[in-house]
Amino acid sequence: MEQQVKSRSIPVGISACLMGHKVRYDGGHKRSKYCLNVLNECFDFVPLCPEVSIGLSTPREPIRLVGDAASPRVVGVKDPDFDVTDKLHAYADEVSAKHTELCGYILMKGSPSCGMERVKVYHENGLPNEAGRGAYAAQLMRNNPALPVEEEGRLNDPVLRENFITRVFVYHSWQQEVMSDPSLHQVLQFHSRHKYQLMAHCYEGYKTIGRYLAEEASHQPLSEVLEQYILQLMQHLTKRANRKSHTNTLMHILGYLKKEIDSDTKQDLLETIEQYRTAKVHLVVPLTLLKHYLKRHGSDYIQSQAYLDPYPHELGLRNYI
Ligand code: SF4
Repeated sequence: MEQQVKSRSIPVGISACLMGHKVRYDGGHKRSKYCLNVLNECFDFVPLCPEVSIGLSTPREPIRLVGDAASPRVVGVKDPDFDVTDKLHAYADEVSAKHTELCGYILMKGSPSCGMERVKVYHENGLPNEAGRGAYAAQLMRNNPALPVEEEGRLNDPVLRENFITRVFVYHSWQQEVMSDPSLHQVLQFHSRHKYQLMAHCYEGYKTIGRYLAEEASHQPLSEVLEQYILQLMQHLTKRANRKSHTNTLMHILGYLKKEIDSDTKQDLLETIEQYRTAKVHLVVPLTLLKHYLKRHGSDYIQSQAYLDPYPHELGLRNYI
C-alpha cells in the first residue's frame, strides 16, 4: 500500500535545539532545515532538551564527558564536582516510560548529553580519552534497543538517511499493526510483508529470522516473541543496504513476474536492474518499472511488500541511492 505524506502522525523524538529552540549552553540553537522543512511533513516531532529538563539554565556553564569512555560522567568544564550524570540518566528513564509512542529519535551530534557516537571524552587530567556516547542518549538507547535512532548530521548521507527513515516507518507499522492487538499470527503477517525489506538490508538476517519464526516462535511465550522479533528485525535493518543487496532483492522480486511477462519485457527489466547495479541509474528507476508490471501481474503477496513503498515517495529518498 502506498504511504501518504499527509498521514504525518508518526511521533519522533528530537533534540530540541534541532527544532530551533534556543536551549543550548550558549543560548543558541542548531535548527535543522531538513528536519523542519522536509521530515516535519511526515513526522510529528517531540522536541526534548535533557539539559534544560533536568533544571539547567540557558545559557549555562558548559559540561563534558570525563572518565571511562564506556561509562563516562558528565561534569562541568570549570567545576568537575558539578556532576549531572545521574540526573540525565533519570531523565532518559522518565522519557522512556512517558513517551512509549515514539517511533524514532533524532539526536544532536557531539553533545555530552545527546550525542549518539564519537562524543569527546576526557581523562580526569583534561587530556582527550577515547570517544563515547552522550549520557542521555546512552541511557535512552539502553532502555529502547529497538528504537530507530540517528544523529541529524548523518542524515546528510543519502544511504544513512534512507536507512533511518525506512526504520522509523517499519517501527511505526509494527506499533500500529502488531502491538495494537498482538498475536503470533500478526507477527507472521507483519514479517511476511517485510521479507524483501529485510533481504535488502541483511540476507543473513532474513534467513535467521525466517528460521526463528518457523522453528522456535510457536514454542515461546508471545511476550518473548514480540520482544525478540522486533529487536532482531530492527538490528538487521540498521545494516546499510547497498547496490549489491538491492540488486539481489530486485532479482528475487522479478522472479514473481517471470511467467507473466514476455521475453522483451523481461529483458528490459533485467537491463534496468543491471544499470542500477553498475551505478548508471538510481534505485528509483528499476523499482518504478518493476512496480508498473507488479501492479498488473503481481500476486497480492508480492504487491503487499513494504519494500516497494517503504515511505511516502514525495521524500524522494530513492532518487539518491
Ligand atoms: S544537544 Fe541536547 S542537551 Fe544540548 S541543547 Fe540540544 S537538546 Fe539540549
